[in-house]
Amino acid sequence: MSSIERSPWLIHYDASSCNGCDIEVLACLTPVYDAERFGCIVTGDPKQADIFLVTGSVNHLNAPILKNIYDQMPEPKAVVAIGACAYSGGVFAECYNVAGGVATTIPVDVYVPGCAAKPESILDGVVRAAMILKEKEKAGRKARALARKEGRRSPKRRAGGAT
Ligand code: SF4
Repeated sequence: MSSIERSPWLIHYDASSCNGCDIEVLACLTPVYDAERFGCIVTGDPKQADIFLVTGSVNHLNAPILKNIYDQMPEPKAVVAIGACAYSGGVFAECYNVAGGVATTIPVDVYVPGCAAKPESILDGVVRAAMILKEKEKAGRKARALARKEGRRSPKRRAGGAT
């Protein structure tokens, strides 16, 4: 845990699901599982979020919403796909309107297994995502330093923001 240097802000979206994994995510935020001990705060504003928690399968109606939330999040960001539905569509995979898992629409950094996913596994996924964020931050700093050295415009720091 010493590898987490800052408090990640989380945003959660439940796509098309039975709500089982959704409820387990909510359990993680209660004092019983206490995600706040890792410094996590839940936000409803994608522009302030670092880690995107997604439950449920993707269909043609919610795919644009998922993409819209993801695109608004600043770089670096990490996506955690929680449960079998978020992985592959799960029990809904054969439904006429289901496109599949979260990766059909946005890049996924961490998969949390289960149907439903256990709160302990979800917390583990959040911690892994925080470590991935740290690596992405490091890589971004390196790329910007290299660009400065070579007199190039530095790569974008924030989604749709200043360079
Ligand atoms: S993985 Fe299982 S528990 Fe989770 S949303 Fe899908 S059907 Fe429900």
